[in-house]
Amino acid sequence: MAENTSTSTSSGEVSEMLPTDDELRARLTAEQYQVTQNAGTERPYSGKYWETTRDGVYHCVVCDVPLFSSDTKFDAGCGWPSFYAPLQGENIENRVDNSHGMSRTETVCANCGAHLGHVFPDGPAPTGDRFCMNSASLNLKSTDD
Ligand SMILES: [Zn+2]
Repeated sequence: MAENTSTSTSSGEVSEMLPTDDELRARLTAEQYQVTQNAGTERPYSGKYWETTRDGVYHCVVCDVPLFSSDTKFDAGCGWPSFYAPLQGENIENRVDNSHGMSRTETVCANCGAHLGHVFPDGPAPTGDRFCMNSASLNLKSTDD
């Protein structure tokens, strides 16, 4: 590969700032890797955050973008951390997911594409959305610490 020391860029893409697959395999746990990179799902009631009530912001475990605030977290009784709204809508992306014989809406990190979980239309007011996320995709930066 030719060396190119130029730092100029015309596309403005942020992908060059994202960790490589090798970095992710080294940094993430096997479960974090499986969930975020292969759209896996952690077992309910097994994750780190399903019953967490600490205040703070949940960041993408892969690229550190802020995704959800504890202010919108609620107990959905499903065994996964659930939120009724994203922190900033542009930080997440919803995609149609027809895998496993179901029609669902997958939620991914808009910045790095990490799988986060699914969003269902049975959440509480004011949005009516239930973002059912995997703890393995999230990193809580708590203001209680
Ligand atoms: Zn991300």
